[in-house]
Amino acid sequence: MAKDIVQGADSQIIGTIEKVSGPLIVATGMGAVQMYDVVRVSEKRLIGEIIELRGDRASIQVYEETAGLGPGEPVYSTGEALSVELAPGLIESIFDGIQRPLEVIYQRAGERISRGVDVPKLDKDKKWEFTPTAKVGASLKGGDILGTVQESPAVLHKIMVPPKTAGVLEWIFSGEATIIEPIARLKTDGGATVELPMMQVWPVRRPRPYGEKIAPTEPMVTGQRVIDTLFPIAKGGVAAVPGPFGSGKTVVQHQLAKWADADIIVYVGCGERGNEMTDVLLEFPELKDPRTGLSLMKRTVLIANTSDMPVAAREASIYTGITIAEYFRDMGYRVAIMADSTSRWAEALREMSGRLEEMPGEEGYPAYLSSRLAEFYERAGLVACLGAPQRQGTISAIGAVSPPGGDTSEPVSQATLRIVKVFWGLSADLAYQRHFPAIDWLASYSLYSDNLSSYFDQHVAPDWSARVGRAMLLLQEESELQEIVRLVGVDALGFKERLLLECTRSIREDYLHQNAFDEVDTYTSLEKQHGMLGVILTWYDKGLAALDADVAFSKVAGMQIVERIGRMKYVAEAQFAQAQAQLLADMEEEYASLTEGGTADGE
Ligand code: ADP
Repeated sequence: MAKDIVQGADSQIIGTIEKVSGPLIVATGMGAVQMYDVVRVSEKRLIGEIIELRGDRASIQVYEETAGLGPGEPVYSTGEALSVELAPGLIESIFDGIQRPLEVIYQRAGERISRGVDVPKLDKDKKWEFTPTAKVGASLKGGDILGTVQESPAVLHKIMVPPKTAGVLEWIFSGEATIIEPIARLKTDGGATVELPMMQVWPVRRPRPYGEKIAPTEPMVTGQRVIDTLFPIAKGGVAAVPGPFGSGKTVVQHQLAKWADADIIVYVGCGERGNEMTDVLLEFPELKDPRTGLSLMKRTVLIANTSDMPVAAREASIYTGITIAEYFRDMGYRVAIMADSTSRWAEALREMSGRLEEMPGEEGYPAYLSSRLAEFYERAGLVACLGAPQRQGTISAIGAVSPPGGDTSEPVSQATLRIVKVFWGLSADLAYQRHFPAIDWLASYSLYSDNLSSYFDQHVAPDWSARVGRAMLLLQEESELQEIVRLVGVDALGFKERLLLECTRSIREDYLHQNAFDEVDTYTSLEKQHGMLGVILTWYDKGLAALDADVAFSKVAGMQIVERIGRMKYVAEAQFAQAQAQLLADMEEEYASLTEGGTADGE
């Protein structure tokens, strides 16, 4: 532990502070540093990063409170880029934007040494049981798996040869070791000996390498009906959730973190209010992972940079998050990363850009806003990982966007929309009507729909995409009919059109509406989704046939079965197949009774 606290103490004075502007410091005499190097500022040794270099003048983004700093104070070099430590110990951790464990920071803050003191990012004293899998004598290269550590009951951590390292395995350890003790020794081609600990260090602003990127073809099932059915996201896909305050962005993100079929969740709480992050911190450990029955934290890494923490660390937090996500992807896992909210991140970028006195672009955001956003989302995807055994890994990235006033014509929303392939647009109107999730079915889209439809048809039911296509079409027709109703009243519609409105009401209220806080309704399997939608559409088709057979519209609309259709979502998964069969049988019977005794309205 001691070595972490004094880390950086051997660094040399290289420059002098010239100016302090909030989190930005300008220093001179900095000719020896490189862009994105980490430096320590003043005797307090605050952590900073070089974000602009002009000759020997450097602009330094400081990740800690700069109050009390002034011109003339020294700047120390570390010669290292802003990096994360990657090893067992990540899972279940809660870090700030530059990977300092929050718990340790708070403990130290209590002892009044909150600034400038290095806290170890990962625990270097804890011992982990390392089980070797690589064989002595094997020729290894970057990405090859050396062995495993059962990091949590849910996560088997694979220890890999770091990228760009290669050689013949001379020795491998078995048993308990810390993450900094050597667990393997390689002899390189050049004859040198390299000792490898479990821990890798990787600069956050540089994507970790992979074999090749592959177009994703499998959905990331979320159990959220409006998402899986209408606007599915692929494993390895990128999505944005824009919406005004109170429209349910955070609940959507939490639902995905809880229910998405991912092995690892990286949740970046970025500039949101402290109390929202506290909700996450309190709620996640309590939540059960539906697949393992264990706490959700057993597969989760949390990164929290709330609005009251230094703004610069917020800028770094999404890079810290995505680098950790890449590391687990490299093991062959399916990772989902949520960033809530990318708007708060962009505001941090804007603040730093303003202090750098850069030429402002639209609404004061820097001109490089879209390229920075693209760089983040481009690190998602399905890839063939480096190394043996052969494996694929995915990162699915979901960013919340909180445009001021909900107006998505602003720069952050616009830049995001050009990049992401799924758009779950939250509507203030729907939220006001308490229709949750308030994902607007007419404004949202998924560019993965076509690619994923064959997966759904093969793995769930052959008519999955036909059903979904029909539901979507009916919803579009509904919006046209509603326009007519608004203008001339419902009496202007024929009975078949009115039946269509009954059907779409059911699709909206009984299907798309989903209560995140109901024990059963919170998650719906694909099979149940297919079944529920089938029941609604069957009722509609039989209703059309009944109208043709001169049954009164009011009798079809007033069928007893309608109410039971509304309760389908609360039927537990295990009972659903039986309940569905019963529902369809009873529906058949009720329709038969109508056709026997019915006459058309108006006769
Ligand atoms: P935002 O992050 O967009 O400001 P929140 O995610 O905090 O909004 O949602 C606001 C409120 O809306 C929540 O506290 C909750 O009461 C309600 N809500 C949102 N989504 C759902 C849902 N799927 N089911 C039930 N209630 C929801």
